[in-house]
Amino acid sequence: MVTSRLPQDEIDRAVEALREGEVIAFPTETVYGLGADAQNPDAVRKVFELKGRPATHPLIVHIDHPRVLERWALSVPPAARALAERFWPGPLTLVLRRAPAVDLAITGGQDTVAVRVPGHPVAQQLLRAFGSGIAAPSANRYGHVSPTRAEHVREEFGDAVRVVLDGGDCKIGLESTIVSCVDTVPRVLRPGFITLTQLRTVVPEVQGRSDADAPRVPGSDVKHYAPSTPLSIVNSRTLEEVVTQLTSEHERVAVLAMRPPRVANKFMTWINAGRRADLYARDLYVNLRALDKAGAREILVEEVPAGEAWDAVRDRLHRAASAENVVAVDPDIAALRADFGEDLGQ
Ligand code: AMP
Ligand code: MG
Repeated sequence: MVTSRLPQDEIDRAVEALREGEVIAFPTETVYGLGADAQNPDAVRKVFELKGRPATHPLIVHIDHPRVLERWALSVPPAARALAERFWPGPLTLVLRRAPAVDLAITGGQDTVAVRVPGHPVAQQLLRAFGSGIAAPSANRYGHVSPTRAEHVREEFGDAVRVVLDGGDCKIGLESTIVSCVDTVPRVLRPGFITLTQLRTVVPEVQGRSDADAPRVPGSDVKHYAPSTPLSIVNSRTLEEVVTQLTSEHERVAVLAMRPPRVANKFMTWINAGRRADLYARDLYVNLRALDKAGAREILVEEVPAGEAWDAVRDRLHRAASAENVVAVDPDIAALRADFGEDLGQ
């Protein structure tokens, strides 16, 4: 379903719920968000409770226009201003010094706040009608696969969320690029649809994510974006071999690949997501959800190509994977070591 705008009465219902301190869900171009009035600490607390999210994990404040940025940020450095002008509304989140009035529950107790102006027409409609900031993380339980359709939110939260605005499938399908503009040199904290190269066309000094921030080993970080079925990343050359190994005892295996299978196997569910990074990203969470329902013992994901276009996808896949499974099923440890760094398996 493709929706551009929603009827005003649906927006009004969501605004009313927000004003009453309720949690609602709404679409953005990246993923669906679980939103609360950013100026109501009790409502913000409900978001953390619903998600089961640790209190130290901050939320992004969504606003309708950069002109209200000063309400949330103590200062807006020129680099942040330039990035906002070029990429907002859009899939970019800026981390800035927190204005004194910003609730510490939103920022995880930090002195910085993350802010975004989303471009989705329904998110824009909602933010304009509400007239203030909406604190919103992705509308999934902590650590699980993010939602890119309204039905995903319903499946996850049922009636606990009073209003779920249905804006159709998210066009980008992966969370926003996060850039911290707190220090002298702006730095990417999370890769997303907007690449480092694109950011540098506006602010040449933006730094990529440092190795210390990157998930060094799948599973070393707190698991995130993860289906319930264990997920492993497998080298393309050995994919069929690993499938044969795992299905030898007639157990089902689910595969997310960029190509069709070379050998048929009745115990596997295979999704060919193709080789275009943007389309692969758009469908990633829908595909992971489908494979999670396949009744498989394991989800195998064909390793995605090197290169910037795949950075965001690679980041999510590595966080969704569990290290012990990668090691157990993939004989080609050397290739994985090159990708994940030296600490593989530790
Ligand atoms: P989600 O809402 O699930 O997309 O996750 C929000 C992301 O924004 C998390 O990765 C947070 O760590 C990040 N974030 C939010 N606020 C801040 C902040 N003040 N500083 C750094 N990262 C932040
Ligand atoms: Mg999330």
